Amino acid sequence: MPRLTHEEILHWLREENPAALEQLFARADEVRRAHVGDDIHMRGLIEISSYCVRQCHYCGLRMARSMPRYRMSREEILTAARSAVELGFGTVVLQSGEDFGIEAAWLAEVLRTIKNETPLAITLSLGERLPDELRLWRDAEADRYLLRFETSDPALYAAIHPRRGAAISDRIALLRELRALGYEIGSGVMVGIPGQTYEMLARDIELFESLDLDMVGIGPFLAHPDTPLGAPDVATAGADQVPTSEWMVLKAVALTRLVCPEANLPSTTALATINTLDGREHGLQSGANVFMPILTPAPYRQMYQIYPGKACIDEDATQCNSCLRERIERLGRAVGTGPGGRFTCTASQSLPILRSQPRFSPQKDRPSPLVILP
Ligand code: SAH
Repeated sequence: MPRLTHEEILHWLREENPAALEQLFARADEVRRAHVGDDIHMRGLIEISSYCVRQCHYCGLRMARSMPRYRMSREEILTAARSAVELGFGTVVLQSGEDFGIEAAWLAEVLRTIKNETPLAITLSLGERLPDELRLWRDAEADRYLLRFETSDPALYAAIHPRRGAAISDRIALLRELRALGYEIGSGVMVGIPGQTYEMLARDIELFESLDLDMVGIGPFLAHPDTPLGAPDVATAGADQVPTSEWMVLKAVALTRLVCPEANLPSTTALATINTLDGREHGLQSGANVFMPILTPAPYRQMYQIYPGKACIDEDATQCNSCLRERIERLGRAVGTGPGGRFTCTASQSLPILRSQPRFSPQKDRPSPLVILP
């Protein structure tokens, strides 16, 4: 039985009363503490290539944009991974556009070198690569794979994420394959994609639960002027259009924590971009338990422009790390050590959480005192 019904999720997504929402955020915070503890895990994000074969209508890396592109060398990637260790991070995330110039065997060797030289967990976020390639990287000991399904609505997905030639783009099927290969799997959505309704967002959150995701990334959609969704037509937006507001994102994060209590949830850079002052903290106080500081070398950062105005892009990794650590301390939380995977996270006072041993009874898990349905 799902932890929240469709109506309950929808109710909370539409809720606008600040006092009621504070209860939702507090409940998500409580569930976060009970299941994954107070540690904030740091994942160093290395944006290894800005080349992309796709034409996603939302993304600034889409192939049609003519702009300078880069692909990091083996040495550059290894240097960035070593800096993650020096900064005390337990994981690196290698992310890129969908770039088949990143040759599978070449990357497998880089992954093996990172694994041999460092204690880092490795997360990949390289788009829709071929099953054989995903297997090769898993054999090279990559631990996790992030692939946001962006929206669970097939028509909206098809409209914003054109297929490549005749090939079907089925990210949900690919996530299942990734899990079968032994990866921890992460997905997620953008909040406020033009054409996204509350119904759709509620179904996205239900899908996070039914896929039993290990990681879920949720951030606001941020219009990039050089993309087809760059200037969304507000006049024609339907009444049921989900806004890109900070609160909307926090509601989605909090509900996700309630339905996926063990998952690792980042307080995303996109959230920090719409509230540079304390968006990151708000994420951590609404159910999130992960930060993903950018470790991409300086010359490349400006070229990896998925959306404009990305928070903290000018801060070097050391500055960024100390700023984030101060923010974590001010909240009375701690920086996590070790890989911080779903099955290696420990709640402060408890044993590792195993899927087969839920600590919360389904009964207790339902945030029933919060649900004020008409
Ligand atoms: N090529 C990889 C990585 C893409 S970047 C892939 O497709 O999986 C990672 C995420 O950034 C995307 O999954 C998307 O959810 C988010 N993103 C892309 N464009 C965005 C935009 N304009 N605003 C906010 N988030 C965006």
